Amino acid sequence: MSQSQVRENPWPGILSADGPRRIAPKELISQKEALGPIVPMLRAAEVSSLEGRHAAVGAFNINFYSQAEGILEGLRRANAPGILQASRGANKFQGGPEKIAKMAAEAVKNSEHSLPVCLHLDHGDDASAIECLGAGFGSVMLDVSKLDCDANIAAVREIVQLAHPRGISVEAELGELSGIEEHISSEKSTYADPTKVAGFFERSGADALAIAYGTSHGPSKGAGVAKLAIRIVDESYRGMRDSNLDMRHFLVSHGSSTVPQELVDEINSFGGQIRGARGIPMDRIQAAIKAGIRKVNIDTDLRLAITATFRRYFAENPGIERGSANLAGIKNALDSKPATIDPRDCLGHIDKELMRSSPKGTDIEEIMGLVKERVASHVAYLCNAFGCAGLAEKTEGHSLEEMAASYSG
Ligand SMILES: [Zn+2]
Repeated sequence: MSQSQVRENPWPGILSADGPRRIAPKELISQKEALGPIVPMLRAAEVSSLEGRHAAVGAFNINFYSQAEGILEGLRRANAPGILQASRGANKFQGGPEKIAKMAAEAVKNSEHSLPVCLHLDHGDDASAIECLGAGFGSVMLDVSKLDCDANIAAVREIVQLAHPRGISVEAELGELSGIEEHISSEKSTYADPTKVAGFFERSGADALAIAYGTSHGPSKGAGVAKLAIRIVDESYRGMRDSNLDMRHFLVSHGSSTVPQELVDEINSFGGQIRGARGIPMDRIQAAIKAGIRKVNIDTDLRLAITATFRRYFAENPGIERGSANLAGIKNALDSKPATIDPRDCLGHIDKELMRSSPKGTDIEEIMGLVKERVASHVAYLCNAFGCAGLAEKTEGHSLEEMAASYSG
């Protein structure tokens, strides 16, 4: 599909599990407000890996302003490029992708962040992926991994044809991950077939592909750890290199949080009840990066860090919530939901405008400052462990317009 065809009919019917569907036209936010593209960052990790310093870029989920600010601060400490990603649940929580995009752009502006950073849609369906194309996102994931391989490829191809003329990249998923996170809920996991990976890239046009190799969503990855199959990553990546698909196409690891035991212990020591939490050991993630993973998704670890910060704050400052409806609401949620690690359970009562902007001068300034610091230190640690610390300078500075031109060339 050429660029002019996209302009004439930008919202064609899109394949989905329910059949073709029309998406209502939407007012587009200027792409000038979008953060940078994802491909140059992943390419920097690829180049570094080929030179023997194996690297993957961290992709961190965001739901509210101080979380985004903390991630940016962590990236700065590690001098790393990085990906902020919002799930459909995050977009819904904040009232739509434009609001999340503005929040991310504001965090970048206020913290004078000058390193390469991208905004990506995590686990989109056809409607949300299309919605994000004009909303300030530089990358979208279409997760239709429940479809058979041919239907998956056809659906991804449709999104690629809309996204690439705008310079926006597309991530797809092959195989199915187990675990529960957001709307993703699957008991069984189906490994990706490595012999299908190169063909998937070639036929769909996707830039990145999440392959199921035994990781799982959520804080209880116990069963998955035993079934980790790094050879699936290894064989997939070899197939890509044999087909000359490296440098522009990249493998992604989902459900890759390490679930630090000290965070779980801290939460439980301050009234939380998290049982059976287990993450992917860091040496396994590093083995997967060595085998060819270039983007590592982290959500659970940041949820744990934020929950631990909230619980410690109220334990160390008894009565601080008196006179503050915002703080009292957070404390009530923690008291009534001892098992939660989802910050949105604690923040749902707070004005969304406040959740999307700097908390300076408000009653949540102190607690959000602690959240920012805790998130920053974990993100910096992960960037060092993933090998992407220092890669900011090696990431070529492309705009989405330049990416659009490179896709059409
Ligand atoms: Zn995922």
